[in-house]
Amino acid sequence: MSQTFVVVAETRGGKLRQVSLETAAAASLSAQPDDRIAAVLLGSGVSAFAGELAAAGVSTVYVVDHPALEAYRPDAYLAALRKVFEHVPPDAVYLGHTAIGRDLAPAVAAALDAGQISDVTAIERKGDRVVFTRPLYAGKAFEKKTFERGPWVVTVRPNNIKAIEADGSPCETVTVDYPAPSLRSVVKDVVKKMSGKIDLAEAKIIVSGGRGVKSADGFKPLEALAAVLGGAVGASRGACDAGYCDYALQIGQTGKVVTPELYIACGISGAIQHLAGMSSSRVIVAINKDPEAPIFKVADYGIVGDLFEVVPLLTEEFRKL
Ligand code: FAD
Repeated sequence: MSQTFVVVAETRGGKLRQVSLETAAAASLSAQPDDRIAAVLLGSGVSAFAGELAAAGVSTVYVVDHPALEAYRPDAYLAALRKVFEHVPPDAVYLGHTAIGRDLAPAVAAALDAGQISDVTAIERKGDRVVFTRPLYAGKAFEKKTFERGPWVVTVRPNNIKAIEADGSPCETVTVDYPAPSLRSVVKDVVKKMSGKIDLAEAKIIVSGGRGVKSADGFKPLEALAAVLGGAVGASRGACDAGYCDYALQIGQTGKVVTPELYIACGISGAIQHLAGMSSSRVIVAINKDPEAPIFKVADYGIVGDLFEVVPLLTEEFRKL
């Protein structure tokens, strides 16, 4: 019997988030040829993004476009999703493992009486089963899990599953009325503390600084390198605690978990709590003047040297490419 996979898409800053296209790809990887993939767009002024989801292998996009959905509120989003589920009862719901996805997924699972697997980094269809891989212990171990029965809810870690290329497939858009429930929470204000133009969680390249940068100005060479590479700037908690940068940049156990293609750690010792946020990066480069620094144990490439000499040299060389 064919199944319906529903992808909850997210927009931010007037754009469809890359993780939503990856989440749609994750649903496709889970599906069999006669299964159906639908997506939900919730927000204010989001209808325009339906076409982009069509290109990601989605056959129908359900749009709930209402000013009350401009800022994320779990009860408002859940009420809107319940309304969508009346049109399209899901066998599975896929969300990005983002701040919104992590908050909303358990509520969706409870509403559907579904099982949940979070922070999925790979998906394999094996006959009737879908096998989900998720990292444990800061990427030191991996767990493979499956569901005995549906419905299920899955969150997908950004930057791990390749988004499907646009193929111009036709896609139906269905507008769903916002049910305007009585809400228990109100968003009074949204304080934007962006780490830069590129969202750290979705950045393909991150240049990260630790206490070794020694001051707020010490981040300037890292920012220059990130700009040349088209990447984002991150930081260790050591650098944040020292006041060299904003906590929005913090990567690690109590900061953001990132999985870029390239992570350049500058003046970061490699404490376990930092590794918890970045050790799943595809390629790790460490620049540290201490050859015994633990960061070198997880690094694919290590440069023993002063970051204030090495980083500008790298920037100069990359600028020539
Ligand atoms: P340090 O450990 O001081 O390392 C600085 C490094 O810079 C050294 O290796 C030094 O050799 C090198 N260096 C100095 N000067 C230069 C130079 N000129 N050129 C090159 N290298 C140089 N940490 C996180 O990062 N993220 C977290 O989310 C996090 N959560 C935590 C949660 C808990 C409950 C606890 C207890 C700790 C947490 N920490 C976290 C803190 C963590 O334990 C470390 O203290 C922190 O990561 C250290 O930051 P650092 O590597 O920048 O600083």
